[in-house]
Amino acid sequence: MQTNGVRLPSYLALLDRLGVRIGVSIDGDAEANDRHRRYRRGGSSYEAVTTGLRLLSSHYRHLFGGLLCAIDVANPPLTVYEALLQFEPPAIDFLLPHANWSEPPPGRGPGSDATPYADWLIEIFDRWYGAPQQETSVRLFTEIMHLLLGGTSSSEAIGLSPVTVVVIETDGSIEQSDMLKSAYSGAPQTGLHVAADPLDTALTLPSIAARQLGESALADECRRCPVHRVCGGGLYAHRYRPGSGFANPSVYGPDLHRLISHISDVLTTSLTARANGTA
Ligand code: SF4
Repeated sequence: MQTNGVRLPSYLALLDRLGVRIGVSIDGDAEANDRHRRYRRGGSSYEAVTTGLRLLSSHYRHLFGGLLCAIDVANPPLTVYEALLQFEPPAIDFLLPHANWSEPPPGRGPGSDATPYADWLIEIFDRWYGAPQQETSVRLFTEIMHLLLGGTSSSEAIGLSPVTVVVIETDGSIEQSDMLKSAYSGAPQTGLHVAADPLDTALTLPSIAARQLGESALADECRRCPVHRVCGGGLYAHRYRPGSGFANPSVYGPDLHRLISHISDVLTTSLTARANGTA
């Protein structure tokens, strides 16, 4: 279960009885978290979230799946990372904010080749990779390292693995990932329903079949890109441009290129030093 954690203390005993593992969405320290996660009336939710998180990371640690943090480059990256570490999460997932070519990422104007998201993540990567002991797993970094070393990805945010997820809405509609809603209204709809259609029918839809084709479904610019096998063109929703749909590089392309290149350089240096016995 993924939750904002505000009501966790009331539900932890029940979730424990049911064996439900829990991920909590939190964006850093109080200041970072309160930028986007306030109560409807404007009050801070941070205290309530951290009360639940402390319980989860101590008495109910066996249920703790990890933390999910939406990146806001206005928040200092190491402050965010260290605020998350205080809960000793087994894993942290950093998410790029939803954006596409008609709605560019916050903090970067259209046409700019600045890489504020890579710069932000690289500060955390260097802190994480350089720690004397691994403090947590950071999914985006481990996925990129795994891909650089020849593996396949298990995340739709990166790599060329086929999409393997459909969403069952509460009315029984079968939809694609709901993050596609950030592209345009109705983007995830398939027209299928659990009462009428076997789940496998989703695989026959052009929009889902296109996401099983790996490299051959990428935009020309991505196919020519030296890091395309690792990047995979970025998250599908981030490729959307009105007029050409999803056949584009990710709007985060410059950030992904820089982040992947940096991790590749660090990994190469580190593995070479180990091989030479100088690490
Ligand atoms: S870095 Fe940019 S061009 Fe290269 S594969 Fe990723 S999105 Fe495509």
